[in-house]
Amino acid sequence: MMGFVTGTMKKSIAYIILASAIVSLAYIASPGFRLKGQITPPMLAGGLEKDNRLLGEADLERLYPDIVLRQRKGNEKVIALTFDDGPDNVYTPAVLDVLKAKQVRATFFLIGNRIEEYAESTRRIIEEGHLIGNHTYSHPNTGKPLGQQLRAELERTEAALETFNVNPSYLFRPPYGALSAPAALEVANMGYRLALWSVDSLDWRGLTKEEVVSNIMSQVGPGRVILQHSSGGPGEDLSGSVLALSEVVDTLKQQGYTFLTMDEMFPASCEQK
Ligand SMILES: [Zn+2]
Repeated sequence: MMGFVTGTMKKSIAYIILASAIVSLAYIASPGFRLKGQITPPMLAGGLEKDNRLLGEADLERLYPDIVLRQRKGNEKVIALTFDDGPDNVYTPAVLDVLKAKQVRATFFLIGNRIEEYAESTRRIIEEGHLIGNHTYSHPNTGKPLGQQLRAELERTEAALETFNVNPSYLFRPPYGALSAPAALEVANMGYRLALWSVDSLDWRGLTKEEVVSNIMSQVGPGRVILQHSSGGPGEDLSGSVLALSEVVDTLKQQGYTFLTMDEMFPASCEQK
């Protein structure tokens, strides 16, 4: 009996090793693999998304209903695609390629020091008609008290954009989705809206295409704002997110959705500073 079990187990182990080898080879040959691990953008000052993201943190919409943009009311089939943490020279161009092929415009919440570092990608975002929002200069954790640093972070990013002749959109997306109460007041006083989201792809966890598609499609609906990333920290893999984007746009188009930039999605809130 023991001999039989051991033999079966040996066979099972051999099958598992063979299957793993096939899966690894298929992954290496997949288009997603080639996008991986080529970026060395400036570090995120607050650390990696996965070490800082606080799910279910303070409900900013409840606290600041006048300036928080999360979801458009009503049943109109409109969607806003948004991409954080860019630009870079790997994932941002890949996202732009998909959007260009699908003829869809989106909103990019860019980090100031990366705007300076990756001027070519910044230029593409502007030339291809997308909207740019402010995601700070160095990506500090805005859930912690920053004092005067926050104002400086926002102004430095706007200054970086001015060199590309872009007017500020006054849309601010807080890094890690967290903002302290004094910080929220500060950005409101500066004339900013808090551009949050209602659908989190969780792509910063390095998910597969299927996982990202499933996360988005299970929460999507009229007036929703989808959060993805167009760059990450060193070693973060967003290739699944790029592949998912193509499928999500196709599916939502088939379902009759139109894609809007954040200022088109919330025109009344974005009218004036
Ligand atoms: Zn971010």
